[in-house]
Formats: sequence, structure tokens, C-alpha cells
Amino acid sequence: MKQKNVDVAIVGYGPVSKQLATLLGKKGWNVSVHERFPAPYPLPRAVHFDDEIARILQSILPSKDIERNTDVAKDLYEWCNADRQLLLSLDFSAYGVSG
Ligand SMILES: Cc1cc2nc3c(=O)[nH]c(=O)nc-3n(C[C@H](O)[C@H](O)[C@H](O)COP(=O)(O)OP(=O)(O)OC[C@H]3O[C@@H](n4cnc5c(N)ncnc54)[C@H](O)[C@@H]3O)c2cc1C
Repeated sequence: MKQKNVDVAIVGYGPVSKQLATLLGKKGWNVSVHERFPAPYPLPRAVHFDDEIARILQSILPSKDIERNTDVAKDLYEWCNADRQLLLSLDFSAYGVSG
């Protein structure tokens, strides 16, 4: 593989480095990202984000794009085991401090 000069080399392509690479790229830095797996992790790992993460996402995406790709939990977020027994219940019926 031909070696390329970059300003920042990021190891791993998880959500943190995706965000970092996007923000650095938007500021004009030449960034390379190196992931050990050929495809993204196949199971959901981000079913919830809070207002702070929403602000970070808004710094790279228009709000309408975030809203279009996000379901807003109206009341409860429940975790069940394979027998559908309730393990955890989180009350999302109210908006967070930042909406
Ligand atoms: C079941 C589950 C549910 C979750 N639900 C939520 C949720 O609802 N909301 C939420 O905010 N968070 C949730 N999380 C946590 C969230 O997934 C993590 O906080 C987030 O993925 C961390 O991002 P990251 O980029 O720091 O690391 P990671 O997602 O771990 O990404 C690191 C990447 O680096 C790669 N890598 C590591 N070492 C090397 C190497 N030597 N060379 C090349 N590549 C390498 C890995 O393969 C991986 O792709 C959940 C996690 C799990 C497991």
C-alpha cells in the first residue's frame, strides 16, 4: 500500500472517531482512519443519546437530518431478556433540560 502523508491518523472507526474525523475534516485537516474490521459492528449500540450528544451531532449535521433519522421515545425505554422479562425500565416521558 502506498504511504500517504496525513495530519492526523485515527485508529478505529467507532462513533467517537467518526465524529472526530468529520470535525477535523470540516476544519481542513487531512485525516486518515484505520479500522481493523471490514464492516461496521452489526448490532445496535446507540439506541439513546442525550442533549449533549445532540449538540455534537448538530455541529456536523443539519437538525432536520438528525430528526429524520431518529425516533423520539415518547414514554418508556425498556430492556427485556429473551423471555421478554423486564430487566430495566427508563422513563423518557419528559424532555431533558436542553429539550
Ligand atoms: C449493547 C450496547 C448498547 C449500547 N447502547 C448505547 C446507547 O444506547 N447510547 C450510547 O450513547 N451508547 C451506547 N453504548 C455505548 C457505545 O456503543 C460506546 O460508548 C461507543 O461505541 C464508544 O465509541 P468509541 O468510538 O469510543 O469506541 P468503539 O465503538 O469501541 O470503537 C472503537 C473502534 O476501534 C477499532 N479498533 C480498536 N483497536 C483497533 C486497532 N488496534 N486497529 C484498528 N482498529 C481498532 C474497533 O474495531 C472499533 O471499531 C452501547 C454499547 C453496547 C455494547
